[in-house]
Parts: sequence; C-alpha cells; structure tokens
Amino acid sequence: MTYNFHGKYKPDKITDFKQAQDSDLKKICKFLKTDLPEITFEVYDTREGKQDADPNHSISRASARFKEMTVYRYWEQDNDPHYPHEITHLVAHTWSTPYVFKTELDTWDDKIITREIDMVSTSFMQEGLAIAVDDIVFERKLMEVGEHKYIEDWCRDQIDLMPKCLETVINLDGFGSIENKVVVPFAASFSKFLLNQFGLDLYKQMYISLYETASPKKNTDSIKQIYEMSEKTLLQSWKQNIK
Ligand SMILES: [Zn+2]
Repeated sequence: MTYNFHGKYKPDKITDFKQAQDSDLKKICKFLKTDLPEITFEVYDTREGKQDADPNHSISRASARFKEMTVYRYWEQDNDPHYPHEITHLVAHTWSTPYVFKTELDTWDDKIITREIDMVSTSFMQEGLAIAVDDIVFERKLMEVGEHKYIEDWCRDQIDLMPKCLETVINLDGFGSIENKVVVPFAASFSKFLLNQFGLDLYKQMYISLYETASPKKNTDSIKQIYEMSEKTLLQSWKQNIK
C-alpha cells in the first residue's frame, strides 16, 4: 500500500490512518477470498484538494478510481479514519480483466466530463457489493438523505417502492434513474442476500458476468442462468428474506 498525505497531519494521526486502512483491507480480502491488492491512498485535508486531484473530479468525500487502483479521500485528522467502502470497490475490481465503459460524469463544479472507465461488473452490483460488505463485515449503517439505518430497515420501510424487476436497475441508466435512498439499499440488500444464500463463488461468477456495455436484458439473463432461477423467484426469495 502506498500513502500520500496532502496537508497538515500529525505523525500519530498518519499512523492511525494507515493502520485503519491496512486492517480494513485485510478484513475485506478475507471475506471476499481475494489476494491483497496494491492500493494507493491519496489523502487530502480539504475537500477542494480531493476534488481537484480526483481524475473524475467528483463531489464525493471519497472515490475509488479503478485504472489507478487509488482511493482519493478527503480526511480531517480528527475524524474516523475507517471507510472500507472504496477499498471494497478496488478489491472486487481485481476479480476479472476490466472492460472499457465510456460515460458522462458530473463534476463537483457542475460540469459534465466524458471518461473511459475501466470496469468490472455494473454500477448497481459494484455499489451493492460495497454496501453489503460495509454491513456484513463492518456492521456499518447506510446513510441516505441525512439518516443512518441498516439496509434491511431502509428496504422494509420503503418496501412498496422497491424495484419489481432487475432490468430496470441492473445497468447505469436504470440505476441512476431511481432515487438513491430507494435503489442503493435495494442493491445492497440484494447483494447481501445472494452472498448469504448462495455463497461467494457463485456471487463472483455472477459479478464478473455483468457489463454496462451489455443490455439490461442480457445482464438479467446472466443472473438467472448463474443462479438457475427465474427473476421472479429470486426477487420473491429476497423479499421473504428481509421480512
Ligand atoms: Zn461506492
């Protein structure tokens, strides 16, 4: 692991930060049965510093960039150094040879930029996995619209709003068309269900079979084939499971 700190940090805080990332990475790799990847952390003491340096200039406090295998973090030294979410994205990125996905992205300063991103799986499954790992391994709650709740509570509280089929959310267009507080807990809870019910090996096989460059129907068919189940049965079992 390589760490670059940009800003004013005390040496003992830097040590705490490194230990937190090392420990989180080990837990994630153990759970996901993946070899430890080489990750770089670029750490900034201002939000502007992070936004400028991040190749995609996103507004988020933390971003994982696949091609660079780098986490860009805005971190103030008195805050909790743990943030396993972005590390999970990079660990899962090593599961297959990436494909290239050309897309438009919103920047922190309201510009739209076009980027070719190295991808494994789709955004729906990437987010779903990272938040499922936050939940299962780290027992972290999910924050949406200023509220912290466990993913099952988010789903139960909005059960009538949950997607009725996978095709509407499995690719980025669909995933981005539904409000985060609905689609994000659904993605996470669905990944958690697949991991718990059918295990990691099948999950990995399914994860790497999805492409933003394939149609939503093709991606949904891949899931049905790998789990040897109809979409209806899968979604019904998921729903039963969170009750
Ligand atoms: Zn994420």
